[in-house]
Amino acid sequence: MPYIVPEPDAVSKPFWDAVQEKRLIVQNCTACNTMQYPPRPRCQECNSEALDWKETSGKGHILTFGILEDSHLPVRAADQPLNLAVVTLDDDPRINFYSNLPGTPVRQAVVGGAVEVTFEECPDGSLIHEWRMI
Ligand SMILES: [Zn+2]
Repeated sequence: MPYIVPEPDAVSKPFWDAVQEKRLIVQNCTACNTMQYPPRPRCQECNSEALDWKETSGKGHILTFGILEDSHLPVRAADQPLNLAVVTLDDDPRINFYSNLPGTPVRQAVVGGAVEVTFEECPDGSLIHEWRMI
C-alpha cells in the first residue's frame, strides 16, 4: 500500500528521526511525567514546555476499528477496502495511533487484539510507523 510521506516540523522532527531508526518514541513531560502523542509544543496536561522524549515498548492493543471502503484519498483508492484501527499504546493507553494493520485481512481485526509497531516503507524510501497484529 502506498503510504503518504510524512512532513516533519520542528516539534515532530525527533519523532520522525526515531522512526527512521525503527524506534517509536513519544513526548514525556518532565514537569508532570505525562506521555503524549502526537508531538506538541506544550504538555496537554500542565501546559509546560519541559518536554522530553521517551522510548516506548512498541506494544499496543486495538481499541476499535472500522473498514475504509470509500476513501477520498486517491492514493488509497486501489487498496480499498482497508482496515482503519485505533491502537492504544500499552505504555500509556491514553495514547492512540491510527493503523491500517498491515498483514491483517479486512474484517479479521479483533477489538482488544495485541499489536506491535512495525515500520513500513513510503514511496520515497522513508519509513512510517504502523501496527501489526501479533
Ligand atoms: Zn505536563
